[in-house]
Amino acid sequence: MTVRNDEAAFGIANEAELLAHAHAIEQDAVERYRMLADQMETHNNMELAKLFAELAGHEEKHAAEILAQAGDIELPVLKSGDFKWSDGDSPEAADLDQAHYKMTPWHALQMALRAEQRAFAFFDHVARTALDARMRAWAEEFREEEAEHVELVERLLEKHPEPPEGWDEDDDAPVWQD
Ligand code: ZN
Repeated sequence: MTVRNDEAAFGIANEAELLAHAHAIEQDAVERYRMLADQMETHNNMELAKLFAELAGHEEKHAAEILAQAGDIELPVLKSGDFKWSDGDSPEAADLDQAHYKMTPWHALQMALRAEQRAFAFFDHVARTALDARMRAWAEEFREEEAEHVELVERLLEKHPEPPEGWDEDDDAPVWQD
């Protein structure tokens, strides 16, 4: 595959920069899952609250592992303008604005799924286009992790199907018509 330099790996220049991105993605995931855990607790869905709290812990552990694996590689401190993902939000960032006050488990899991899929797509692109072999190896490893997260959320969605139409009808809520 021929890749232009500036297109390769979203322009991420080296291993250290990639690891910094990966670490930021994990930290965003921690925040997202904590927020979803809170949301589910508010809804008295303790099963999902517990699960999202576990996922937050899992991602937090992974963030720490990335730092440990980086070893002597000094990770650059990325300011928001330095991130190489195009839309400003990290691939695993929570769609916080989409969190509905009556969000059901299905909605929470949809948010989680989209975030995990974006993270997968991010590392997939890096793995396929990185010009540097070590960067490629890291990206392949992170892609594998994200594939597992996608699968996990998909399995959970089988247990928590989409709510029937009208799930959010409420006397106090605005009524949307189209
Ligand atoms: Zn993930």
